[in-house]
Amino acid sequence: MIIVMRDNATQEQIIKVEERLIDLGFRTHPITGDVKTVIGAIGDKRLLKSHGICLMPGVEDMIPIMKPYKLAGKELLKTPTTIQVGNVIIGGEEIVVMAGPCAIESEKQYIDTAFIAKEAGAKILRGGAFKPRSSPYAFQGLEEDGLKIMYAARQATGLPIVTEVVDTRDVDLVASYTDIIQIGARNMQNFKLLTECGATGKPILLKRGLSATIEEWLMAAEYIMAEGNKDIILCERGIRTYETATRNTLDVSAVAVIKELSHLPIIIDPSHSGGSWKYVSSLSKAGIAAGADGLIIEVHIDPTNALCDGPQSLTPSDFKRLMGELTRVAEAVDRKLVL
Ligand code: PEP
Ligand code: MN
Repeated sequence: MIIVMRDNATQEQIIKVEERLIDLGFRTHPITGDVKTVIGAIGDKRLLKSHGICLMPGVEDMIPIMKPYKLAGKELLKTPTTIQVGNVIIGGEEIVVMAGPCAIESEKQYIDTAFIAKEAGAKILRGGAFKPRSSPYAFQGLEEDGLKIMYAARQATGLPIVTEVVDTRDVDLVASYTDIIQIGARNMQNFKLLTECGATGKPILLKRGLSATIEEWLMAAEYIMAEGNKDIILCERGIRTYETATRNTLDVSAVAVIKELSHLPIIIDPSHSGGSWKYVSSLSKAGIAAGADGLIIEVHIDPTNALCDGPQSLTPSDFKRLMGELTRVAEAVDRKLVL
């Protein structure tokens, strides 16, 4: 914490504040400028509030040095976090691709897509069972029947699954089927949902909110981590900007910023960012080149007839081709993408 003294603070006031800090067990580092004196105080900052340091004569302000996201940030843990899900490690040398349709529509659609995704090199299957949409009249997902289909695909392919929960009342249900719980962009600041998902102990894929700053996103991760759950995968899925040519704007700089600020792995969702299958290839490559640890890509056996997000879904053959191209991008940035 930095204690900022007022411009007109007397020498006596400065000494009194410093003595008080030392009495409370702080190490102090006063810096005297031409106009102001500030005192760096290292110790238990809760004591500063409870002992009313900010009320002492001559004190203007107290400024925290630590970032507010203590567990998600790098100040306490410098080494990158890796998350093991089955045989898959996220945040290691290997780029992990998660793939599947936006929504589970039927057993045949999902199982067929699951095998196609596996064959092309995806290591985790995605799919939505709870799909509250912008319109209440649009397809809303198969709910528990969808989870059962996903689980069957998991057993058949041997690949772990990731699916979204949107309601605290369904957290235990979803956790009983899935390997990774997804928290969607629209729920990034649903703090009760974050806490309850965190408490399941399952790895969490935390999407960035549509208009969330990176700090708000990391604070959302902090809610999960405060439950003792360290297994969080951040997912940049595009943010709302003035641009309408794409569904959202992929903030590729978020990858670099997260790598600077946090030890948590980060993946890119090129499907929801661009909103069109045409942009998925470029955005995937940009994400890997920027240092992302993985991708989550929508793939559908028949995008034109998809019940949800068809326009941004890749066909099986486009997905297969892209995976081949991505191996070379991964290599160029000293990572591996194993097909
Ligand atoms: C999804 O991944 O299916 C989804 C709804 O994404 P988002 O929360 O990023 O919109
Ligand atoms: Mn979707």
